[in-house]
Amino acid sequence: MCIFASLIRKVMQFKDIVGQQDIADRLAAAIDSGRVSHAQMLLGDLSVGMPMALAYMQYLCCTDRRHVDGHADSCGQCPSCKKISQLQHPDLHLVFPNPPNGSASVSCADYQVQYRDFLLEKRAAGSLEEWHAFVGTDVKTSLIRERDAAHIVEVLSLKPYEGGWRMLVIWKPTTLNAAAANELLKTLEEPMPQTLILMVDDTDEGLLPTIKSRVQTVKLLPVAAGRSAEDTSLFAPLIVGWLRMLFKLKMKELAAQVDKLAALNRQQQKQMLAYASSLVRDCFLCSAAGLPCNLGSGDEKFDAQFPKMITVNNIESIESALDEALFAIERNANAKIAFMELSFRMSKALKKR
Ligand SMILES: [Zn+2]
Repeated sequence: MCIFASLIRKVMQFKDIVGQQDIADRLAAAIDSGRVSHAQMLLGDLSVGMPMALAYMQYLCCTDRRHVDGHADSCGQCPSCKKISQLQHPDLHLVFPNPPNGSASVSCADYQVQYRDFLLEKRAAGSLEEWHAFVGTDVKTSLIRERDAAHIVEVLSLKPYEGGWRMLVIWKPTTLNAAAANELLKTLEEPMPQTLILMVDDTDEGLLPTIKSRVQTVKLLPVAAGRSAEDTSLFAPLIVGWLRMLFKLKMKELAAQVDKLAALNRQQQKQMLAYASSLVRDCFLCSAAGLPCNLGSGDEKFDAQFPKMITVNNIESIESALDEALFAIERNANAKIAFMELSFRMSKALKKR
């Protein structure tokens, strides 16, 4: 287990996924009303598809589902939520393209540990290229093969350990080879009860029409409309400005920056905090790896030094301060107080690097 992955490992909930609230609401509503389609395809950017699949299954299994501000989410705290967010739920199975590795007998079963580490490290948002780099293969086209299909049949025939759902995620099903696709088809035709198969891909081109027709497709919102545009145009300057004032400990300017954050609407504040959280994680990973992390603040000293202030000693307290601010905002707490409290906690944590 990569030490960094274990440190930044965080419960995956709908609220952590920026710009896909409508989709999350729809998926949760289907679960709430007991209309879970046994095979679904989350089609859209891979940086969103897998986080959504995990948040969806976490909600499915959560024993204390919540509804806040009209949005449903898992609790993030119950034993089931924790097991899924740590990818250790015994009924959660993962299938993904894997390189042949010079041996015909290799399947995704042999890469489970690496793949789970990859998901944790990338917060489930990694690309196929990043997976190849992670597993250290120079193979450009890894596949899901017959042996992987046999693995699917095997894990889906098991009785659920926890007595609930059998859950299978197939990441990049468009890499299924013909034999594996045909094998999978049988499983899709005769699903066992309490089975959920989620496919996650950024395209459905090349997927057998017979598979497509047996799978309910959920189209994710384009990332550009949800995340990137808002992150860069609205949140990035605000957050970076706020972090800069924390860094400089200029309290008067910090208060002015807090006012700007408090002036956003609740939804924007939630997205802003999710963005801040991902920025802090980027800083931590970059500084841990000794890589530069360009925050683009226009302040060279800040850009160079701030990432180094996020270390193993304070990442967890920073993350929990951000989480608790989000919790407060979701419950309609006074935004100014919530952001001021967050600022104090962050500045205290930054001193403990
Ligand atoms: Zn829960």
